[in-house]
Amino acid sequence: MSVLIVGGGIGGLAAAVALRRAGINARVFERAPQIREVGAGVTVWSNAVIALRRLGLDEEVLSLGSEMLWINVLSPKGAPISSIDLEEISQACGAPSLALHRADLQRMLLDALDREQVHTAKECVGVKQEKGGVTLRFADGAEARGKIAIGADGVRSVVRESLFGSQELRSARYYCYRALTATPTVTKHEVVSVLLPGIQLGVFPEVRPGEAYWFLCRNKPVDAIVADAQYDHMAVLRSVSGELPTALGEMIVATDPERILIDEVLDRPPGRRWGRDRISLIGDAAHPMAPTFGQGACMAIEDAVVLAHSLRRARNPVAGLRDYENSRRRRTATIKRLSWRYGKVYQWERPALVKWRILLAASPLGSWNLRRMLRLALRFDPPELDGQEVS
Ligand SMILES: Cc1cc2nc3c(=O)[nH]c(=O)nc-3n(C[C@H](O)[C@H](O)[C@H](O)COP(=O)(O)OP(=O)(O)OC[C@H]3O[C@@H](n4cnc5c(N)ncnc54)[C@H](O)[C@@H]3O)c2cc1C
Repeated sequence: MSVLIVGGGIGGLAAAVALRRAGINARVFERAPQIREVGAGVTVWSNAVIALRRLGLDEEVLSLGSEMLWINVLSPKGAPISSIDLEEISQACGAPSLALHRADLQRMLLDALDREQVHTAKECVGVKQEKGGVTLRFADGAEARGKIAIGADGVRSVVRESLFGSQELRSARYYCYRALTATPTVTKHEVVSVLLPGIQLGVFPEVRPGEAYWFLCRNKPVDAIVADAQYDHMAVLRSVSGELPTALGEMIVATDPERILIDEVLDRPPGRRWGRDRISLIGDAAHPMAPTFGQGACMAIEDAVVLAHSLRRARNPVAGLRDYENSRRRRTATIKRLSWRYGKVYQWERPALVKWRILLAASPLGSWNLRRMLRLALRFDPPELDGQEVS
């Protein structure tokens, strides 16, 4: 069986590694001229480390990242509101949870493949199903033929559009800023979270030695007549930094603006169909989600293992794709819904709601609820992959 994968992000590369592990031949087609350093930090929670264990990469990923042991929620003045023992939860779920540089994760996956498996500067512009196979068409006029195709081409997936037509994305109405910067004066292994009206900040102190990763989500102005292109993001960050605990505000101001990535948070409500006949989707192409719990890339890694398992054991490739989709729909929809809802709660602005949120976060009920959600997300029981050749 030959599998064509469109997109060489975390989902596409993880799928190629998992398929290889299951003895299935796969090729990745990426539109960028090379698989390069992209993104800032990324959290790889226990569930994804467990999935990477099936790919023989768990030890390696642990060596690349910094383990997250505690989540400390702080007030805007820096006073502790609540503290979650993440080490205990992660261990109970079967593996540590980490924060690392996104490029290091991507490089690890790339290195687990043969160079000939990954084709760069190949922008897919069309997918065609024919009897017994699929053909990808690229912007440079070239074509590739295989038995099945997987769209791992992200939130604005061309493969998805070829299946279901163009579908609107849903805006969560907040921006997410993220960057790497010099480690501030917070303790290593502690994830710091600060909630202000309409703002959430997360800091992961050491994704590489001496380098911290932060993200900050900020509501769009309510009367946003301002076009996105005219929005002065840096002025927003400067003004927000004055409201944060001093060391964290200074960290944001000291970050090189060139290194700050800005995304509007988008998703798509869970869909009932991810594929048709010989085509399916993985990662953000299938189930884009708000970044609230840092699970989008983790879900793509889980997808990869299940996809390889389903194709490995199916009586034919089409049945394998449907089995994969059925196995993944419920879990990804749950995490996606929680990410959307809690993202909205963390962005609350109205004073009464904000006050209530702080009271809840500080209460045993609040920390019980957060621990419960973490356990739900971090538990994953991946199927076995065995590596004999599949014809
Ligand atoms: C602010 C923010 C913070 C996040 N933090 C985390 C986190 O900490 N942990 C976590 O698990 N998740 C996180 N996520 C989610 C995570 O980034 C995504 O879920 C993940 O990157 C999805 O991977 P993917 O491979 O499906 O898609 P992508 O990463 O989007 O990769 C798609 C690839 O396809 C290529 N491509 C696109 N179109 C074509 C085409 N036509 N032809 C060929 N190639 C194409 C692109 O160039 C790209 O390389 C975050 C997301 C955001 C927005």
